[in-house]
Amino acid sequence: MQNLDLVGKRILVRVDFNVPLDNHLNVTDNKRIREALPTIEYLLSLDGVSVILMSHLGRPLKKLLPDGSIDVQKFSLRNIIPELSKLLGREVLFAENCIGEKTEAIAKSLIAGQVLLLENTRFHKEEEKGDEEFSRQLASLGQAYINDAFGTAHRAHASTCIIARYFAKNVRGFGFLMEKELASATRLTHNPQKPFTAIIGGAKVSDKILLLEKMIDSVDNLIIGGGMAYTFFKAMGGHVGNSLVEEDRLENAQQILEKAKGRINLLLPKDSKVADSFTNDAKTAMADNMSIPEGMMGLDIGPQAISEFTRVITESKSILWNGPMGVFEMPNFANGTNEIAKAVVEATGHGAFSLIGGGDSAAAINSMGLEDKVSFVSTGGGAMLELLEGKELPGIREILED
Ligand code: AMP
Repeated sequence: MQNLDLVGKRILVRVDFNVPLDNHLNVTDNKRIREALPTIEYLLSLDGVSVILMSHLGRPLKKLLPDGSIDVQKFSLRNIIPELSKLLGREVLFAENCIGEKTEAIAKSLIAGQVLLLENTRFHKEEEKGDEEFSRQLASLGQAYINDAFGTAHRAHASTCIIARYFAKNVRGFGFLMEKELASATRLTHNPQKPFTAIIGGAKVSDKILLLEKMIDSVDNLIIGGGMAYTFFKAMGGHVGNSLVEEDRLENAQQILEKAKGRINLLLPKDSKVADSFTNDAKTAMADNMSIPEGMMGLDIGPQAISEFTRVITESKSILWNGPMGVFEMPNFANGTNEIAKAVVEATGHGAFSLIGGGDSAAAINSMGLEDKVSFVSTGGGAMLELLEGKELPGIREILED
């Protein structure tokens, strides 16, 4: 961004303002807005620049009103203006449609230092389709394009990807957030400091197969926890009771175990906190993961697993964490995830580089107030996952293309 020809221009910036709102339509978590500020403030510090912000908010076309119309009140980006303008310390103008003659007129009348926010790009079905004409209309609003929406960089949508084609290389680029996300991922994908430990958890093996396979090629230690671990135990001939198992992924689990053998240290949780139902106040016990009693299900990793995982994590120099170790939304099954968070923080304190891969692990770190004690918390769960799997992200490719 700092090498582009931006002075004196009207700059279109794709941000990720897809923030949670409460029933009164107030922003309940402003992290994504705060993360976009450095880019917006930098652009406004340049001579003669005005900024046009565009974003999506939720999935308005998937949640239409009973009469088939868009729930404008709920999905309008107007809802975030009070928070944005407070954080930015300036007035934010608003255009009720992200394209069209009226919006073009407002955009063209902007003077230096002004900020215009466009209505939700997903009010148009063309956005998610990556429609060329819609992209061209969006592009016509600005004279330069900056993409700072990492959370949607894995989608080839109009405002996140296709639009870049309408700007020359000297007037299109990435914002600071995008740059930070990419730099953090690169620290793990290109010559990470050893020992490198990946901690992969969450519900399903099926969502993370590619990541697991990729990690076997580069890590020293691969820790597998959360619901997905039980598919591995079943694949090894264990009895997992009522724990979550993906029967159609047993073969994948076996292949992953096979691939890891002799190459890396693959760690599965030795024990679990098991429960007689999927509720916070269920009756619980500790069990060995090869022999979970009938009728019980593993909902968190147990004390032996915590102590083994903690030892490996605190001795690591590079750490990736993606996915909780248990059903951390229920306080009685959050201990494993919390203890792993503490171990990652301890390792970071000793100089390790730690990347929290967005989604639920980011939520866990944030809820414990530890986000400043790890190296980087990604704002994009899906996008970070794809980046670490080695996939090309359309939003990034399009900017770099010749
Ligand atoms: P993911 O989106 O794949 O990272 O998975 C996150 C979800 O996995 C969270 O909602 C957790 O509650 C869930 N999860 C973690 N451990 C378990 C488990 N042992 N059994 C069932 N669900 C789990």
